[in-house]
Amino acid sequence: MNLKIKLTSLMARKLPVKTARLAGHRPVASITFDDFPKNAWTLGGPILAKHGVRGTYYTAGGFCGRTVDGTVFYDREDLKALVAAGHELGCHGYGHQPTPTLTTDQLKADAERNQEFLRGFTGGVAPVSYAFPFGRVSPRTKRFYAPRFTNVRGVHPGVNVGRVDLAQLNTISLESRCWEPEKIEAAIQRVLHDHGWLVLYTHDVSDTPSPYGSTPQMLDWALGKVAAARIEVLPMREALSVALGA
Ligand SMILES: [Zn+2]
Repeated sequence: MNLKIKLTSLMARKLPVKTARLAGHRPVASITFDDFPKNAWTLGGPILAKHGVRGTYYTAGGFCGRTVDGTVFYDREDLKALVAAGHELGCHGYGHQPTPTLTTDQLKADAERNQEFLRGFTGGVAPVSYAFPFGRVSPRTKRFYAPRFTNVRGVHPGVNVGRVDLAQLNTISLESRCWEPEKIEAAIQRVLHDHGWLVLYTHDVSDTPSPYGSTPQMLDWALGKVAAARIEVLPMREALSVALGA
């Protein structure tokens, strides 16, 4: 990340646009996959099923049925199966562009195109959860997405407790490039203690994951720790209601 990108990201982080105070009635967790590579569903799905949990798959419509730079992405059948199993389709932009690089008109066109695409699999229901591609965000793009979705996730590391920004929720990475079991365990304990919202994220699931993905064992281990802490795991749209005490 170059300096300008870092600064823009930091500025966005310092400028909450959709603040809310979590109710703190009980802790909650979500497991999320970005983009998403096909094996997040074919290998990740069975692990979620083993733990009896449903996830949020942030879907970039432009990746459907494609292989890009060696990554095999989901296809239409995967989306149908995933929705049938009760998982959530989140929005991740159609073209998977870093949002600060798009004009507001381009953001609009991209958001509409992805929403239209996703509606084809959700019985016409619009997605309510969004994640910034690459976590790239600026104050302008936060303000753009905030009113369009009930919850928006960035990639800033951390848990969500107390006063949060629903336009840039924190997340804990399960990616192999920054795999630190102690940090994940500490995050789980913090959420348990403060009745916060733990949002986990990764990309592919494979025995030989990309730097941005996880092995099946990593995913299984993390969900096992959350289960051991007796924290309920729900898709983002439902976890939001629990977190807000609705
Ligand atoms: Zn992405």
